Amino acid sequence: MTDQCLFCGIVAGTVPSVKVAEDETTYAFMDINPGSDGHLLVVPKRHSKDLMEIPADDLAAVTLAAQRIAKAAVPALGADGVNLLNCCGADAWQTVFHFHLHVIPRYVDKSRDRLGLPWVPTPGDAEAIAATGAKVVAALG
Ligand code: AMP
Ligand code: ZN
Repeated sequence: MTDQCLFCGIVAGTVPSVKVAEDETTYAFMDINPGSDGHLLVVPKRHSKDLMEIPADDLAAVTLAAQRIAKAAVPALGADGVNLLNCCGADAWQTVFHFHLHVIPRYVDKSRDRLGLPWVPTPGDAEAIAATGAKVVAALG
């Protein structure tokens, strides 16, 4: 728990939220700026800043909770699919620095789905892709 952290406040109950699920390790609540109907966030109760910092057990618990909630929410809301999203770092769109997974139900019906990422897939250079892949493999050791 950190005093300045908005999501620590939500977990502690000092900041209001629309809770959808909770277990020993995780807390899930509706996003106040939903990208689609049913957009929610799953956080670890224990504060971690981001993907780089979160301990493996908390990450596993948050991911499993997100899957459990997505499996219930998608059919219940009549969604056609779902995105799980994590933003790590301000340049990767992170705005709240307490790790969270977005669970974003997706809809063919765009009146229920306002989410649009500014990424338009276009073919990459095959050699550059292979060279970058090799760098990642080398970094993994
Ligand atoms: P990110 O940009 O990945 O850090 O996502 C932060 C998310 O937190 C955004 O989608 C916000 O809409 C959401 N958010 C911010 N404040 C609150 C709040 N008080 N209750 C629920 N969601 C919030
Ligand atoms: Zn926090």
